[in-house]
Amino acid sequence: MNPCRPDGATILPGGLTVVIRSMPIYEYACTGCGHEFELLVLPSRETTAECPACHGLELERLTSGFAVSSPAMSRARVTAARRQFQRSKDQKDKQVADAERVKAHRDEH
Ligand SMILES: [Zn+2]
Repeated sequence: MNPCRPDGATILPGGLTVVIRSMPIYEYACTGCGHEFELLVLPSRETTAECPACHGLELERLTSGFAVSSPAMSRARVTAARRQFQRSKDQKDKQVADAERVKAHRDEH
């Protein structure tokens, strides 16, 4: 599924993003240390949020800057965000494992 793209976002040459109508600021809570923080999510890039306190990637999205019409919708978003983070984490682990296997293989020679 495509991530929500806020209305009014304009991407200028050079990758600058100007959001005219509203800022996509999300509130996150770190499940590692419990730190809560706000994050501006740029629509032009993948969400790579990390906890500014412990750099943990296990984050829970609390609320968004946009109006949320129902608790069920908000819960679905949190679940989707969790899946997204878990998937990117798994992928990174696999990439690291592959890289280490290649490196170990090279070191044998
Ligand atoms: Zn943290």
